[in-house]
Parts: sequence; C-alpha cells; structure tokens
Amino acid sequence: MNYRNKKTIEDIDVNGKKVLVRCDFNVPLADGVITDDKRIRESIPTIKYLADHGARVILCSHLGRPKDEESKKKCTLAPVAKRLGELMGREVKFTTDIIGDEAHAMADALKPGEIMVIENVRFYKEETKNDPDFAKALASLADIYVNDAFGTAHRAHASTAGVADYLPAVCGYLIQKEITIMGDALANPKRPFVAILGGAKVSDKIGVITNLIDKVDTLIIGGGMAYTFLAAKGYAVGKSLLDESKIDYCKDMMAKAEAKGVKLLLPVDVVVADSFPDPIDGPIDVTTVDAAAIPADKEGLDIGEKTCALFASAVKDAKTVVWNGPMGVFENPTLAKGTIAMAQALADSSATTIVGGGDSAAACEQLGFADKITHISTGGGASLEFLEGLELPGIACLEDK
Ligand code: ADP
Ligand code: MG
Repeated sequence: MNYRNKKTIEDIDVNGKKVLVRCDFNVPLADGVITDDKRIRESIPTIKYLADHGARVILCSHLGRPKDEESKKKCTLAPVAKRLGELMGREVKFTTDIIGDEAHAMADALKPGEIMVIENVRFYKEETKNDPDFAKALASLADIYVNDAFGTAHRAHASTAGVADYLPAVCGYLIQKEITIMGDALANPKRPFVAILGGAKVSDKIGVITNLIDKVDTLIIGGGMAYTFLAAKGYAVGKSLLDESKIDYCKDMMAKAEAKGVKLLLPVDVVVADSFPDPIDGPIDVTTVDAAAIPADKEGLDIGEKTCALFASAVKDAKTVVWNGPMGVFENPTLAKGTIAMAQALADSSATTIVGGGDSAAACEQLGFADKITHISTGGGASLEFLEGLELPGIACLEDK
C-alpha cells in the first residue's frame, strides 16, 4: 500500500454533502467529566475544514468498552459533543440514536456547515464484529465517509473500515499526518536512520524489529527486551526480564545486523535493584553495573549513564529517528533516567523524530518533550502495526488518488 497516495478531504467536493467522520473521541472520563480533551481538540481541524466547506457533518466514535446497559451510561458521547461545541464555538447537535430514525432525521435536517454527533458506535456489538449490515446502516446516514481515527485504524470495525464498502472514503488531517510522516520515514528515510526500541518484552516487538532491521542504519535496543539480547550474547542477566524462547530470534537478528552492516547497539551498563519496584513508583535502591556483569540476585530496570551517552551519540548523527518503547521502568522516577535521556536526545536532534507506541508517547508527553519532537503518534497499537509494516484496515479501505 502506498500511504502517500490516499485521497484526503481536500481531494473531494463536500459542499452540501452529508459526511460521516470517524473520529477518535475515546477520551478519559471521571464521573462523566472529561479529564483530558486532547483528542477532541485534535479532531477539530478536519471537522472545521468540512463545516467551512459546506459539508453537513456527522461525527461518530467509540468511547470505552460498553458491555451492559449500566456501563453504556458511562460511555455516552454526550459530554464529548458538548465539549466539542464549546471548543469550536459552534452548535454541535447530539443524538442518543446511532442508526435509527432519529439519527437519520437529524442528519437529513443538517444544513451545510452544521455538525452533529451520534451515540457511541460500540453500543452495537456489530461494530467491533464489522458486521456488514451494521456498516451499511451507518453508511446510509451519509454520502461520504472520512476516517480520521488513527488510534483505531489497525482494527477492521464497521465504523473504521466496513462503511468504506458503501461510501466514497477518504482520510482526514490526523490520519493524513500520521501516514505521511511515518510512511515517509519507513519508505524513504533521510539517512542515517536510527531506530530505538525498548519496552517490556521482545515478544511484543518481534514484528517491529524484523521490519526495521531491513530499513535502518542503526538499531538501538533498550528497556526490558535488551536482556534477552544480552543473554543471546552469552551474558548472565540475573533476575532481569528474560524471554528464553526468543534467545534464538535475538541471535538471528544480531547475525542479520552484522551481515547487513546495520549497527546494533545494546546497553553497556544497566541500573539494577533487588527486585521490581512495588508499588511501581515507590522508593527503590539502585546501583549501576556493567551489562556483562549483572549479579545473579539483581534485576535490570533501566539503562545506565554510559549507555545513555552511547545511545544519545547515535541519535546525534541521525537524520531520521524512530523511537518505540521506554528504556526502563519509567513509571518510577528513579528508573526514568534512561527514558528521559532518550527523550532529551530526540528533542536536541535536528533529525525528523518520531515516537510511536502508547507508553513511549505517554512518557514524552509526561516528561514535557512533546513540543520538541517532530511527531508523536496518536495511536499506540496502530503505530506499532505501522512500524511492523502491516497494512492497517482503516487506511487500506480509503480511496487512492
Ligand atoms: P510502548 O507502549 O511504548 O510500545 P511497551 O508497552 O512495550 O511500550 O513497554 C512499556 C513498559 O515496559 C513500561 O511499563 C515499562 O515499565 C516496561 N519496562 C521498560 N524497561 C523495563 C525493564 N527493564 N524491566 C521491566 N519492565 C520494563
Ligand atoms: Mg504499552
């Protein structure tokens, strides 16, 4: 799939048309109050473009995981519609209906430039099953479909992919930005191209490692998964996270890197403790040891200072950097130093810097580096699948130019 080639809202005539937009309004709520409206704010450029160009805008999304009638009450999109109206300074209508008469009546009555939100599409179990009848019913609300929910683009659900079988389908600005920046980095990177991978388990990142090793000049491995690589090198790793079934895979990847001339950087020193912090952000006594000399009774929980400097120097020379996965147990301030050092290295770099993955993105935001990074992906699972080189159904279903 050529990600560069997807039609966007600017490639079609939306004037007077009913446009169904799949947004990512999956915001955090506490007692019915939105605690972070970032996702709503980010959806506005697409909605505003459509409304300003005379579209009759129908917004849909999922929110949470509604199962029964009780949990549905907590997953209503009513507060989202209200907040969107406040943020845009325009009326945003809301219906508790989804595909019934009331939703149709409201949609049909929309004037050009008017905006409405239908209720949470996951109130129908058919949504996540990508049921064709449900997708067709959703599609019948509108003339055009716009997907702007990158966070669910790796799911083939009715509102993220199925509707595209029945309507002309294009992407909004949020998806366009994600696929342009990440697509270019993978397909045509400015070199040197450096990937930094971390996080907990090798097994979670096999697809990413396998895809990136063919594309990068330098592959940096930190986080919990570094210990399986260190074990593959023959080092003892004490009580650190170790995925024994993946040692051979790590050996294969090291051999492949060698054969391809890809520089593979592993930690040279690590921060260890007697055990995993409990609670995760509680006080902890740590020492730094050589990566080749991890004591049998210690657990590696972050990269050490020498490793931070080594990794940062590789980032310094890069023109493209992709980062997925924290370097240590960053939830604990004592064990966040490696992750902070990498965020700082990306922030200081003039390269195109991209962060994908839920926890890595959260770490960059929490640590205050978001403004200095070229692109922090809005989709955790979706960005991982993108980095794995997989075809995302929510994007594959959109029309080519
Ligand atoms: P992402 O969501 O960015 O893809 P992951 O979900 O793969 O990242 O990994 C994030 C988790 O990895 C964090 O909760 C962090 O505490 C954990 N982690 C990082 N380093 C270690 C380590 N050395 N030992 C155990 N867990 C680790
Ligand atoms: Mg994660």
